[in-house]
Amino acid sequence: MSEISIIGAGLSGSEAALQLAARGYKVKLYEMRPERQTEAHQTGHLAELVCSNSLKSTRLDTGSGLLKAEMQILSCKLLPIAHSCKVPAGHALAVDRALFAAKVTAEIDSNPQIQLIRREVTELPEGKVILATGPLSSDAIMHHLQQLLGEDHLFFFDAIAPIIDTDSIDMDKVYAKARYDKGEPDYLNCAFERDEYYRFVDALLEGEKHEAHEFENAFFSGKNFNFYENCMPIEELARRGKDTLRHGVMRPMGLEIPATGKKAYAVLQLRAENQDRTAYNLVGGQTMLRYPEQKRIFKLIPGLENAEFLRYGSIHRNSYLNSPLILNENLSLKAREDVWIAGQLSGVEGYVECIATGMLVAAIIAGELSSLPEHTVLGQLWRRLLSVQPKQSFSPVNANFGLLPALAAPPRDKKLKRQMLSERSIQTMRSAFPEASEQTESG
Ligand SMILES: Cc1cc2nc3c(=O)[nH]c(=O)nc-3n(C[C@H](O)[C@H](O)[C@H](O)COP(=O)(O)OP(=O)(O)OC[C@H]3O[C@@H](n4cnc5c(N)ncnc54)[C@H](O)[C@@H]3O)c2cc1C
Repeated sequence: MSEISIIGAGLSGSEAALQLAARGYKVKLYEMRPERQTEAHQTGHLAELVCSNSLKSTRLDTGSGLLKAEMQILSCKLLPIAHSCKVPAGHALAVDRALFAAKVTAEIDSNPQIQLIRREVTELPEGKVILATGPLSSDAIMHHLQQLLGEDHLFFFDAIAPIIDTDSIDMDKVYAKARYDKGEPDYLNCAFERDEYYRFVDALLEGEKHEAHEFENAFFSGKNFNFYENCMPIEELARRGKDTLRHGVMRPMGLEIPATGKKAYAVLQLRAENQDRTAYNLVGGQTMLRYPEQKRIFKLIPGLENAEFLRYGSIHRNSYLNSPLILNENLSLKAREDVWIAGQLSGVEGYVECIATGMLVAAIIAGELSSLPEHTVLGQLWRRLLSVQPKQSFSPVNANFGLLPALAAPPRDKKLKRQMLSERSIQTMRSAFPEASEQTESG
């Protein structure tokens, strides 16, 4: 009988354990809590949701809703448990978090194939291993990974700028141009007049922020983190002086407006998120502003008045690996091919995405999956973990429509476009896994 060790019984580790147990594997599942807690977990339960109790939307015109639909086709284990603990939240799948964690724990405890071992793992054991220790992996295991993979391949913080839908950008105002016309015009430029710039800076200064956790406060005070400047929130830079942004990340040098030849007072640049350019990233826009505030304030940027956000910005403690450089196609480590990485550590972001990678890695290890169709969100998440992005360091990815290849003939109506993208993904997944989809339909 095949044996495997899984380290970390959070969302991805619990999903992987249940998947492999169902396929006859003997699973040793290691969890360091309750003896050793992380900065955010509060109980000894497995699959504890550390913050929001929402697994986001179930609507098929959202990236997360589509991902969940695809995961159901592939017989995800934790999603049905989440549905059984559902609390009213409109189109969102929100759960009673205590009940959800208790149910997952009970299911694992009572599974004869799974041995739950409550202790911190400080080194990778011999044999097949799934490493799923999450964004708050213990120091000891991170230190071990540092020795195995090298310091450059580990990230400890996540500074994410918002990502917006290309269709929502006003292309009459925004223009493509390289600074001083040197190189390809890869970036889109949002040019500010003087008044527009100061209005934006004032809004950033007044915007309501997320409460930082204690460990994040240590980070922002600069203690012990020498890469702190690179992750500075845009509103914190604005706080240093009203002109700091236009002398830094929003400098207008070499970016005259082509139509008028006029020099802009400040410029915020947009960088393409994918080859089809269906989504753009606000360069330097990493932020701790609350989501509704981001929506309000970033719409003050000329050309982004009607911006639709595919992902909001954030900054938080997040241990993850430089997956495109250190993973094989099957999500195992190049340095140790019998060790697979799942969950947030692999570079996905979000509860559902983490569960999805646990499910994915289990199917890969069982020899049932070597690739997924490119038209599926899950297939694209997998691809993104492996693709080196030119000119930028690897940053975590969540499920969003910007990941999907464009439609051959996209309609103008955005809702219809998303509906068509969703239908294409689900049909593709169903025809790739006909037996699995029949199982789901019959309940
Ligand atoms: C503070 C914070 C808030 C977040 N809020 C949200 C949110 O609201 N919505 C959202 O979608 N996503 C959120 N995330 C992101 C992410 O979706 C969750 O962190 C998710 O739980 C990650 O799943 P995982 O399986 O990778 O790790 P986890 O679910 O964290 O599981 C990892 C497990 O490994 C254990 N562990 C760690 N090190 C060791 C070790 N050495 N030996 C044994 N066990 C170990 C941990 O105790 C933990 O139980 C948040 C992340 C953080 C850090």
